Amino acid sequence: MKISELKTDVVVVGAGSAGIAAAVAAAREGLSVALLEKNSFPGGRATASAVGTVCGLYLRSFKQKAKFVSEGFMKEFAERLQKRSSTMTQSGANGLYYLPYNPFDFKTVCDELLAEAGVQTYYHSTVFNAETKAEKIISAEAFVYDRKIKFRADAFIDCSGEASLCYLAGDNTVEENEYQASAQVFTVENIETSSPESLGLHIARELKRAVDNGNIHASLQWVSVVPGSLHEKSVMLKIGIPLSIGNTNNKATAVELTGRKSVNTIFDFLKNNMETFRNSHISFVAAEAGIRTGRRAKGKYTLTETDVMDCRKFDDGIANGAWPVEFWGNDNKVKMDYFAEDDFYQIPARCLMSEKFDNLFFAGKNSSATEKAIASARVIGTCLQTGWAAGKLAADNCEL
Ligand SMILES: Cc1cc2nc3c(=O)[nH]c(=O)nc-3n(C[C@H](O)[C@H](O)[C@H](O)COP(=O)(O)OP(=O)(O)OC[C@H]3O[C@@H](n4cnc5c(N)ncnc54)[C@H](O)[C@@H]3O)c2cc1C
Repeated sequence: MKISELKTDVVVVGAGSAGIAAAVAAAREGLSVALLEKNSFPGGRATASAVGTVCGLYLRSFKQKAKFVSEGFMKEFAERLQKRSSTMTQSGANGLYYLPYNPFDFKTVCDELLAEAGVQTYYHSTVFNAETKAEKIISAEAFVYDRKIKFRADAFIDCSGEASLCYLAGDNTVEENEYQASAQVFTVENIETSSPESLGLHIARELKRAVDNGNIHASLQWVSVVPGSLHEKSVMLKIGIPLSIGNTNNKATAVELTGRKSVNTIFDFLKNNMETFRNSHISFVAAEAGIRTGRRAKGKYTLTETDVMDCRKFDDGIANGAWPVEFWGNDNKVKMDYFAEDDFYQIPARCLMSEKFDNLFFAGKNSSATEKAIASARVIGTCLQTGWAAGKLAADNCEL
């Protein structure tokens, strides 16, 4: 069988928030870029799991209005998304700000940015092999819809969110025995409620009562309203998936099955027990469960929780983190650890650079960080920044 071969300056694996930023950054430097994505659309967790808000864009502050933590591509992306989604920045508890969005608008903004930059995008394209020689990656092989293609490049960026290319190339990775809890998002139409706050409280109260009465399993009570998602009679709900994620084979299937089953159980409960949901129906279920963390790349530096909490700055800082450490335990309870308000920590470029391969970079939730540090650095605003920086680093590498 003859395998097609293509040569570009840069290959980016994964078209999530980080991959989009990386591909656009490298392409705007005048390089040819192939972006390979196993889904049929861009956005990764932001669209496939419909997480619903962009966090990490703004400084946490009680004094001022929302202020971007970084200029550049992250701000450009947020402003385009805000315009297209017709949403407003919202303030939440503890001085946090975030931007709600519509997942389809997120896809559209990504499609437009990629096209404008001249990125060669390949959807339905799963990278399954990497060829290496000494300290370099030579090629990445992908199944592109119905055929194998070998992509040769001078630099590679792993934005797979799962260190897929690092793993295939035999690079070092960070693995845990257990990862943070996952969640499933779905939309319900035709509900009767006055505010998201009262809706959230009402749901929590009813579920607690049902658990106490033995009508619903305690592990299913973690249902929240996606901030900014209540429009007229429609709302997005997020269910904590009652399943601990370890390092087992085929773990994603168990998460997806449990997520879908939980949607059915919870929706039936809401419809049958709350007047608010009496005439409602499900209009949308996110295509993929939201898996928060997993295997990550191990770079020249690994960001720590102390770096985050101390708002540490680095000489080679390339991204500003503004979101607290949002750690979701496997009991589906969230623990928020806040660093100083009106301040931020930096992520050094070394967190995006492979120790082993001098033409391999990474970004997004695949940045080199501990499980606690990534619980902050994985939010979309920060992924956009690390993705952009990885694209620039790869471009510099191509010019050497
Ligand atoms: C339940 C949940 C709620 C969240 N809530 C928020 C929130 O409210 N606000 C916020 O800012 N963040 C939130 N996050 C975090 C945030 O959504 C993600 O961490 C972020 O979007 C990750 O971006 P990424 O580009 O690093 O990875 P991803 O978005 O995971 O993108 C990786 C892409 O790589 C592709 N890929 C993987 N392997 C391959 C391969 N071998 N070949 C080709 N393609 C491949 C995947 O299909 C995917 O599209 C939430 C996350 C979850 C799970």
